[in-house]
Amino acid sequence: MKRQLLDILACPVCKGDLTLEVEEEKDEEIIAGTLICEKCNEKYPIEDGIPNMLPPELRDKV
Ligand SMILES: [Zn+2]
Repeated sequence: MKRQLLDILACPVCKGDLTLEVEEEKDEEIIAGTLICEKCNEKYPIEDGIPNMLPPELRDKV
């Protein structure tokens, strides 16, 4: 995902702002990392450049 995408992404649980923790970055794309909601302390993984914005309670069922 592009770093700028962070501006339009919001926590699906509380609509709060997300903080980006980058693990791997390539050509201005975030390949791997974590999006963290500071409001409800939820975490959303970024894998293969795609942020997983599913609420945690749905994530395990997919
Ligand atoms: Zn939240």
